[in-house]
Amino acid sequence: MRVPLLDIPASYEKILQDVKKNIDQVIQSGQFVLGPIVEELEQKIANYCDTKYAVGVSSGTDALLISLMAAGIREGDEVITTPFTFFATAGSISRLGAHPVFVDIKQDTFNIDPSQIEKSITGKTRAIIPVHLYGQSADMNPILDIAQRNNLVVIEDAAQAIGSEYEGRRSGSMGDYGCFSFFPTKNLGGFGDGGMVTMSSEDVYNQVKSLRVHGSNLKYYHQVIGGNFRLDALQAGVVLAKLAYLDQWTEKRRENAQTYNQLFKEKGIADQLILPLEVTPRHVYNQYVIRVKKNRDKLRGFLSENNIFTEIYYPLPLHLQDCFTFLGYKKGAFPESEKAANDTIALPIFPELSQEQLSFVTEKIDEFIKKYGI
Ligand SMILES: *Cc1c(COP(=O)(O)O)cnc(C)c1O
Repeated sequence: MRVPLLDIPASYEKILQDVKKNIDQVIQSGQFVLGPIVEELEQKIANYCDTKYAVGVSSGTDALLISLMAAGIREGDEVITTPFTFFATAGSISRLGAHPVFVDIKQDTFNIDPSQIEKSITGKTRAIIPVHLYGQSADMNPILDIAQRNNLVVIEDAAQAIGSEYEGRRSGSMGDYGCFSFFPTKNLGGFGDGGMVTMSSEDVYNQVKSLRVHGSNLKYYHQVIGGNFRLDALQAGVVLAKLAYLDQWTEKRRENAQTYNQLFKEKGIADQLILPLEVTPRHVYNQYVIRVKKNRDKLRGFLSENNIFTEIYYPLPLHLQDCFTFLGYKKGAFPESEKAANDTIALPIFPELSQEQLSFVTEKIDEFIKKYGI
C-alpha cells in the first residue's frame, strides 16, 4: 500500500468535466487575465466567506502583500504575527520595510496566543496578522478586541482555512482583510498559483482593486503605486469549478480526522500521541498534525520506508531563520513555537483517502511505538 501526503489526481475524476468546461470558455473568450470568470469567482468566494467583496489576486502571498499595502503599512511600522507559520506571513511584512513582531502560539491550536499580544504593542504597531494554521481559526474575539482598543488593522491569514469558522463566523470575514491561497495543496487549490482577498468595506475593496493593477482606476493613470497582482482567468475557472465540491471535500477531511482519532484510541496510543484538537469549530483540516514526545524524525523515516508520506509544517520557526537574524530574536524566545517545530508531524488527510489507507497509517504508527517508543 502507498499513502501519499496528497493525491491531487485522485480528485480529478469528479471535477474534470466541470473544469474543462470553464477552461474552454476562457480559451474561447480570449480574456486570460481578470474578466468575467474572475468576477464570478470573486462573488462566489465573497458569498462563501460571508463578506461583501472579494478580489482575486495572483497568490496567497500577494493577498497578504496587497492587504498590507492597502492598510498603508510602510517602512518602520510593526506588524504582529506568529513565528510558527509559512514564511509568506512574515516575508510580506518585511518586503514593505515593516518589522514582523512575533508573538508565541498556544500549545493546543498552534495559533497566536492572544494573552501575549498586548505586551508586544508599541507606538509603531499598525496591524495584527492572525494565522488560522492547519485550517483552524485563531481565537478571534480577544484579537479583535485588542485591535479595536489599539486602533490596529486585522489581516487574517486564512490561506489554509477556507470555510473554517469561529463562533459561527467564517474565516476571512472577521478581520479587515481575509487572505486566501489557491496553491494546489490548499483545500481549494487551482492548477497553479492564485489567491483572494475578502473584505466588507467598500473603501478597502476599491483600494485593493486599484493596487492589483498598478494603482490605476483609469487605465494608464496612476493614483498610487501598486503592482501586478492579477488573477489568471484559467485559474479562476479551475477554482470556480472546484468550489462546488469544497464543502463535501471538507466534510471528508473532517471525517478522516475523526477516523484517525478513533483508530488511535482503539489502539490505545491516543494518549502517547498528542492528537489535534478542535478548539474553535469548524476546523477544516488542511493538515492533520500530531505531536510526539521524541523520535519524530525517526517516525517520519519509518513511515516513509512504509510508503506513507508525511511533512513537517514547519521545521524552523521564522524568528530563527537566517533572513530574520536582523530582527534580533534568540533561540528560546518563543518556546511553544520552537517545541512545535520539533515535535509535530502532518499525516495524510486529503479527502480521497480510503479506510484501508487510514488504517494502514495508524497500524504503522502503532508498530513504530511498540518497536521504538515515542
Ligand atoms: C500557503 C500559505 C501562504 C501563501 O500562499 P501562496 O499562494 O503559496 O503564496 C501564506 N500563508 C500561509 C499560512 C500559507 O499556508
